[in-house]
Amino acid sequence: MNYINNTLLSLRASSPAQDEFYQAVEEVLCSLAPVLESNRLYQQQAIIQRIVEPERQIFFRVPWVDDKGNIQVNKGYRIEFNSALGPYKGGLRFHPSVNASVIKFLGFEQIFKNALTGLPIGAGKGGANFDPKGKSDNEIMRFCQSFMTELYRHVGPNTDVPAGDIGVGAREIGYLFGQYKRLTGRYEGVLTGKGLLWGGSLVRKEATGYGTVYFADYMLNDRKENLQGQTCLVSGAGNVAIYAMEKLYQLGAIPVGCCDSSGTLYHQGGIDLTLIKTLKEDKRVSLAEYLHTHPSAIYTPVADYPTGQHALWQYTADAAFPCATQNEITKTDAETLIANGCKLVSEGANMASTQDAVECFIDSGIAYGPGKAANAGGVATSQLEMAQNASMQRWTFEDVDKQLMRISKSIYQQASETARTFGQPNNLVLGANIAAFKRVADAMIEQGVV
Ligand code: GLU
Repeated sequence: MNYINNTLLSLRASSPAQDEFYQAVEEVLCSLAPVLESNRLYQQQAIIQRIVEPERQIFFRVPWVDDKGNIQVNKGYRIEFNSALGPYKGGLRFHPSVNASVIKFLGFEQIFKNALTGLPIGAGKGGANFDPKGKSDNEIMRFCQSFMTELYRHVGPNTDVPAGDIGVGAREIGYLFGQYKRLTGRYEGVLTGKGLLWGGSLVRKEATGYGTVYFADYMLNDRKENLQGQTCLVSGAGNVAIYAMEKLYQLGAIPVGCCDSSGTLYHQGGIDLTLIKTLKEDKRVSLAEYLHTHPSAIYTPVADYPTGQHALWQYTADAAFPCATQNEITKTDAETLIANGCKLVSEGANMASTQDAVECFIDSGIAYGPGKAANAGGVATSQLEMAQNASMQRWTFEDVDKQLMRISKSIYQQASETARTFGQPNNLVLGANIAAFKRVADAMIEQGVV
């Protein structure tokens, strides 16, 4: 275990104050112990030292003018983490919490997630500490144009292909694409998550949420169960949460709770998904508005959450789908969920649970799907979008959805078979990390010291 401490010590010295990044690295390194002990080549080739250091990190100024005529400045990031398996691939996050640590942890997770898809995609992540909340359409457009005015020189369909993440959806991808095209004069698959009218793929919008639910279903099927009739808590109310809820309904489950940055909503009879789509996709307003239509639902504002806990995870349900953001399930939340009879957790968000919450889930024996395995359907479908763009084709909804299901199943199988091989059948964290690591590490070795 010395190599874990040594790696973390050297990261702390070379990249100070990046707690989320250390957390993601530590989790992966702990899983890898049995592989590194049995295979000297990985040590001789300094794979660990190489894999934790991004190939390239780009930080840039994003100046823009708001509607009042004031000049605003944000910080932009693109971290090109690993290109052993293909062009850098991963989303852009626009959120005030974005900093180098957050983007690095996301980029690091992306290496393993993308490897699990089995598709030829490397890993990158980017974004800005820009808060889209409360901004006008024109402000969003000017921000995206300024962001791309720097980013365009680093990206391309065969070098680095960004997509959406928190705060970046079809609208932002549209403005980013428009500016890329204007600057380069090229109409090409440089971004994924594009509009359906201009190069986007069917199912991409739904893919992360759908994939997280497919993954949950495969976990349950292995236990001779399914989602039919199961009550579910789905955190978030954005793209991932909405389409996780849609797929849950399609598979006969009942989502009873969700949340946004202002509060938690609980509706015992089942969340009215059509209303959520109207509030979030069309009107972009707070979940509190849900009560105007359904006064019997319960809404808890963030200020009233129990200390150190998330109001959503206090409700009783059969399954939990954290689809909002990192570290949204703490150890206390995990213990509450388990005590209330929750038997499945499938992460639509990246690193949704703290390290001690993850240990709680694994020790308890419930079905736990870590984000990098459970939510890989999103990036996998992005690669299907790239494939359609490159071959100038357009596939049907059914075609893409079938492929998404096949890839989600294969990820589940790789993670669970590897977990079994290493003697910990219920530990999909270990299974996913080892299976993904081997693929990337072997490719790095074959490509030499670069
Ligand atoms: N941001 C998503 C993720 O965390 C999607 C990335 C992509 O489609 O490139 O995987």
